[in-house]
Amino acid sequence: MNETILNFTNGKILIGETFAKSASFKIKNGVFSAIETNIIDDANVIDLKGGYLIPGLIDTQVNGGGGILFNDDISIDALNKIAKAHLQYGTTSLLPTLISSDVPVIAKAIAVVDDAIAQKTNGIIGIHVEGPFISKTKKGIHDESVFQSINDKAKEVLKSFKNGKLLLTLAPEENQIADISELNDAGIIISAGHSNANYERAKAGFNAGIKGVTHLYNAMSPLMHRDPGLVGAALENKDIYIGIILDGHHVHETAAKIAMRAHGTESFMLVTDAMPSVGSVNKEFELCGKHIKVVNGVCMDDNGTLAGSDLDMASALKFAIKTLGIDEIEAIKMATYYPAEFLGLENEIGQLKQNNKADFIIIDNDFMVKSAYIAGEKVYGNK
Ligand SMILES: [Zn+2]
Repeated sequence: MNETILNFTNGKILIGETFAKSASFKIKNGVFSAIETNIIDDANVIDLKGGYLIPGLIDTQVNGGGGILFNDDISIDALNKIAKAHLQYGTTSLLPTLISSDVPVIAKAIAVVDDAIAQKTNGIIGIHVEGPFISKTKKGIHDESVFQSINDKAKEVLKSFKNGKLLLTLAPEENQIADISELNDAGIIISAGHSNANYERAKAGFNAGIKGVTHLYNAMSPLMHRDPGLVGAALENKDIYIGIILDGHHVHETAAKIAMRAHGTESFMLVTDAMPSVGSVNKEFELCGKHIKVVNGVCMDDNGTLAGSDLDMASALKFAIKTLGIDEIEAIKMATYYPAEFLGLENEIGQLKQNNKADFIIIDNDFMVKSAYIAGEKVYGNK
């Protein structure tokens, strides 16, 4: 395949840890073969008009989008539509997220995502299996009738995933530590969530290989002064990656700031926990047999229980920078580099660097996505 050269100027182009004003990308076979901070061809330059050019955003928790819930439509067609719905908000890589389901349904979801990746479905890099190995006390909107502990059949199914990254959310106190270790050893990335674990059990889970926590503060044992819980165990441990939903509803901004100060912003990951309403005009849907409606940006059932979010990644990034006041580059890393590192993909995606996949987005100063590129191909924006 021929090498493509793209030149950009008058922007904030995030290369490594700094912004460059201009850059030239050489792209071959979908990866950056070279990145220069000067312009190679003056005749063919894209004016960024002061906006950002940054790596494509990576979202490790996407239940749905574009009117589709993955749980309800486990198909490649659905994955295409969900990924497309999120592309307009800058997400070029995502993990479709299956909320608590029976093991045969998990097996089906794993097989479909495997096929989608084999067919190079844009944006799909793995699967997030959220439950059913979780706690009834912290179930959130999940259907507790399917909850169980990890058993041999579940392990066999989880280990059957071949083509991408499998992220598993479980409650450490509801499962055997040996099973957590075994799945970690098999390459499954494990995150603690929907968990009422006390501090000691949470630490035992981390020692067994749990690498992260799922939607910090939400559906987990809180930080109490005599019982620091899963929140305390995660915030004291700098090696733990922390997924956080910055929609202004799931986490109070002060609680978000305190968490980042306690842990350090490194390894925070912006996630959406997006529902079908994201990228759709339809703001009502069914989830686990419940009617969910988006009211003032919040997805909730008739009893007021939060049910995922109506958040998109560009808005999460904007919230991090404009509302929380996080340094721009650090906030961008929370949506790009840190999730890539969490998934073990930091040498493939999440940074504009030589030999990484040429996934990047152009986004203006109000965080409106102007265009998105996957593997060097423009997949969203004006032709
Ligand atoms: Zn959840």
